[in-house]
Amino acid sequence: MVHTCVVSGCRNRRTPGTALSFYRFPRDPERKQRWVDAVNRQGWQPNDGSRLCSSHFISGMAARVGGGLVNETADSLG
Ligand SMILES: [Zn+2]
Repeated sequence: MVHTCVVSGCRNRRTPGTALSFYRFPRDPERKQRWVDAVNRQGWQPNDGSRLCSSHFISGMAARVGGGLVNETADSLG
């Protein structure tokens, strides 16, 4: 299965050799909501297949899309 980033306008996807990481949405409702806010898609909710690429995290290569970055480092996700 090819993982694509859920951020509107982000063309990153998991390809062999990419430096990007793709993260599943957290189970914790508060953290999950932060991610959803950063994605900034009206009425959208993540599902099990939803992934966010590492360029939207503070610690990533700052790609400012959709009005915000996820305010935590990807490293903290384990
Ligand atoms: Zn992305």
